[in-house]
Amino acid sequence: TGPGDKLEFQAETRKLLDIVARSLYSEREVFIRELISNSSDALEKMRYMEMSGDTQGDPALPLEIHLAADDSKKTFTIQDTGIGMTKEEMIGNLGTIARSGSKAFLESVNSNESKSDVSNNIIGQFGVGFYSSFMVADKVEVYSRSHQPDAVGYKWTTDGTGMFEIAEAEGVQRGTKIVLHLKGDCYNYSNEEVIKEVVKRYSNFVGVPIFLNGKRANVVQALWLADQKDITADMHEEFYRYIGNVYDKPRYHLHYKTDAPLNIRALFYVPEYKPTMFDMSRETDVCVTLYSRKVMIMSRASNILPRWLRFLKGVVDSEDIPLNLSRELLQDSSLIRKLRQVLTSRILKFFQDCAKKDVASYAAFYDDYGLFFREGIVTEHDQDTREEIAKLLRFESSKSSKGDRISLNEYASRMKAGSRDIYFLSAPNRELAEQSPYLEALEKRDVEVLFLYEPYDELVLMNLGQYDKKFFKSIENEMTSDKTDTDTVDESDVNSLRQTEVDDLMTWLQGVLGNKVTKVKVTKKLVSHACVITVPEMGSVRHFLRTTLADKS
Ligand code: ADP
Ligand code: MG
Repeated sequence: TGPGDKLEFQAETRKLLDIVARSLYSEREVFIRELISNSSDALEKMRYMEMSGDTQGDPALPLEIHLAADDSKKTFTIQDTGIGMTKEEMIGNLGTIARSGSKAFLESVNSNESKSDVSNNIIGQFGVGFYSSFMVADKVEVYSRSHQPDAVGYKWTTDGTGMFEIAEAEGVQRGTKIVLHLKGDCYNYSNEEVIKEVVKRYSNFVGVPIFLNGKRANVVQALWLADQKDITADMHEEFYRYIGNVYDKPRYHLHYKTDAPLNIRALFYVPEYKPTMFDMSRETDVCVTLYSRKVMIMSRASNILPRWLRFLKGVVDSEDIPLNLSRELLQDSSLIRKLRQVLTSRILKFFQDCAKKDVASYAAFYDDYGLFFREGIVTEHDQDTREEIAKLLRFESSKSSKGDRISLNEYASRMKAGSRDIYFLSAPNRELAEQSPYLEALEKRDVEVLFLYEPYDELVLMNLGQYDKKFFKSIENEMTSDKTDTDTVDESDVNSLRQTEVDDLMTWLQGVLGNKVTKVKVTKKLVSHACVITVPEMGSVRHFLRTTLADKS
C-alpha cells in the first residue's frame, strides 16, 4: 500500500456537512435508512450485473447487508457485498454533491437562511444520503473494493470537517464497509435494540437480507407480487416508507396487476403529506423503481410515468422488460412508451374512482395535489388523455354551494339541451365572483358558471380548449364579443333613456376617458350594475395584477 492522498471537500459539500452536523436530534436516525439504501442500491446493481452476465459473481459472497452495533467501541458499522467503488469513484461519489436530493436540500436551506436550525424534518424529506452519517459520527471510515476484476481495496476517512484521506488498504472484500465512530450524544446508535427498531421502521422491505449483529432484521418480500388480500395496512405503510424514503403514511395506494397488453405488477402510493416546493419543481426525480422479475433495472426510472405524475411513489415490475435492455433503450423504447401509456390510463382511472368513492378525502387530496393534474393537462399532447385528466378537475360554480366543488361531468349533466359551451369566470374568491357584473347576464339566462379562483386555472382551461366536445368560454370574453348586443335603444320602453340621450352620454364618456379606453358602448346585459369595464385578455391582466399585488404585500 502506497501513501494516502489528502484531499479537500468541495465547498458545497463542506456546507452540507456543516448543516447536517447541526441537525435536530429527532432526525438523526435517518442515517441508518440512508446507508442501508446505498448498500441496497449497490447490491441491486451487483445482482443485475450477475444476472445479465456482465460480471462473474462470487459464490462465497452472498448479496447481503451486515450491520454491527458495538456498544463497547461506540461504533455503528454497515457492510455490503455490492458493486463497491474504485478509488476514483470514492473520491467522486463521497466528496462531491452529485445527487439531486442533496442539491435541492441545500437550495431549500439557502432560501431559508434566516432559520438557523434545520427544522420540519427536511433532512429526512430530502434524504441527504451518505452525508447523513455526519449527524451521528465525528469520524467516518469507508472501506471499499470494486467488483471490477483486479480491483484493489481502499480506505477513505474523514472527521467531517474540511478534508478527507484516501489510501490503499489490505484485506478489503468486494463491496463497501462503513464504520461510524459515534459522537458523544449519539451512543444510542451503538445499541442493538435501537438499531433494530429503526431498521424495522424504514428498511423492513429492503430487497436483500439485512443482518444485525448476525441476526436477521428484515423481511425480504416483493410486496408488489403478493396477493392483495395478504397485504395489511401496516405492510403498505412500511413498504411505502422504504421505497419513498419518507416518514409519513400513504393516503392512497394502487396495486395493479395485468398480463395484457403487457405483463405489469405495480404498486403506487400517494403521500399523506402536502407536496413541498421541491416536490412541485419539475426537476424533482420520479420515485418509481423499475424491476423485471424482482431484479431492479433502474431506480428513479423517470420514463415509466409522465413527469406530472412525479408525486407517486412506487414500483413497477414487468417480465416483458429484458434484463439486458440498455440504458439508452430504457430512456425511450417503444416498450417503455407502451408501459407509460398503460400505467397512465390505469392511474387516471384510479383517481377517478377515488373521487367517486370518497368525495371528502378526494377533495383533500385535490387541494394538496390538484396542481399536478393541471400540469398534466398543459403538458400532455394527446387530447383524449388531457380530457381524462380533466375529469379529475373540481370547481365551485354559480350553482354549487360555497366550499362544494363540481366536476366537468356534473356541469355537463346540467347543461341545457343544445348548448355547447362551458362558461367560467375568474375571480379571487366566491364573494367577488358572485358580485361580478359579468355573472348577471348569464344568471338571467339560468346558465351555470364555473368559478376559477386560481389565475392558472383559466390558462389551463383555455389550453384544454374543449371537453367532451363542449367549448370553454370565459364569460368576460362572451360579453365583449357578443354580436347580438346592439347600440340602439328600445324607444318603446318608458324606463329607458332616449336614443339621443344615450348617444350624448356615450360621446361625453368617450371624451372624458379619452384614449384610456378603446370603445364605449351600450349593453343590455347588465341587471344591477351601471357599467362594466372589459379587457380583451382578461386572464393575463388578472395574473399580472395578482402577482404585482402579491409582491407589494
Ligand atoms: P445517492 O444514493 O442518492 O446517489 P448518496 O449520498 O447516498 O447519494 O451516495 C452517493 C454515492 O456514493 C452513491 O450514488 C454511490 O455511487 C456511492 N455509494 C454510497 N454508498 C455506497 C455503497 N455502499 N456501495 C457503493 N457505492 C456507494
Ligand atoms: Mg443514497
